[in-house]
Amino acid sequence: MELRQIAKDVYACLQEDKGLGTSNSGLINRGGGLVVDTFWDLPHTRAMIDLYAGVWPAPPRRVVNTHYNGDHCWGNQLFTGAEIIGHRLCAAHFGKEQPQAMQMMSAMAASSDAAMAAIGKSFAGWDFAGIELTPPTTLFDEQMKLDLGGIVVDLLYVGPAHTASDVVAHLPEQRIVFTGDVLFRFCSPVGWEGTYAKWLEALDRLIALNPEILVPGHGPVCGVDGVRELKDYLVYVRAESKRFFDAEVPALQAAKRIDLGPYARWTQPERIIFNVERAYREFRGEPFDAPIDVVTLLHGMYEVQQARRHAG
Ligand SMILES: [Zn+2]
Repeated sequence: MELRQIAKDVYACLQEDKGLGTSNSGLINRGGGLVVDTFWDLPHTRAMIDLYAGVWPAPPRRVVNTHYNGDHCWGNQLFTGAEIIGHRLCAAHFGKEQPQAMQMMSAMAASSDAAMAAIGKSFAGWDFAGIELTPPTTLFDEQMKLDLGGIVVDLLYVGPAHTASDVVAHLPEQRIVFTGDVLFRFCSPVGWEGTYAKWLEALDRLIALNPEILVPGHGPVCGVDGVRELKDYLVYVRAESKRFFDAEVPALQAAKRIDLGPYARWTQPERIIFNVERAYREFRGEPFDAPIDVVTLLHGMYEVQQARRHAG
């Protein structure tokens, strides 16, 4: 975990991308302070707070959650007394993920089923004990402007792209965007509710903001080249998925067979199964928030990983 200053009074707290849950956060250290996203568990969020405490004059008055996934908001309770801000659907979907369910998933590390054990092990290093879901209570729909002692922060709704509740934090004067999971960098993306079209639209919106620095939800800080690369990935995976869909190849087989080219070097390339499944749902005309069978997809990820390992 690293604290990096990216502008005067603006910091990022970056976690090395080790797969599941290793997200990034931001701090605008003015006007009472604003933290963009907390971490997946209390120990990691405490470590973030320790890093931020090295530069902040007092605990921040505000926290914004870019979306409802636990790795962006399950540390909220540690910001006692802070105003927690998010999209209306972030609050509405907050209970979709439950800490107890994640604890059960990590306990599967001891399973005799190799796929289940692998899924369980991917939760190693996280401790979901003691988390009390603390959803945002200051809610907005399209946008919300904050003035933090002269630093303007525009919170913009760009969903449903990665989830129904995607918000980015744009600092126009500093030309910085904290993107949440609308942007993954060198890291295979996963989407929950949303469509390819809306995700691409969200990425185009990021480019149109003309930022110099983007802090992705996962992966290292980048410029707009990072946004363009993710766009290329999504366009490519959707097109390849269409080819296999039209040939009536099941999604899991397609996920094993699509040539990932340069994207094979991104972390967790096997997450492509989530993206192929999303494409197939769209080709079948299902709604953007059709339910996802996460356990089956995690199992599929393991199968894709094994198949790709044996192939390469
Ligand atoms: Zn995330």
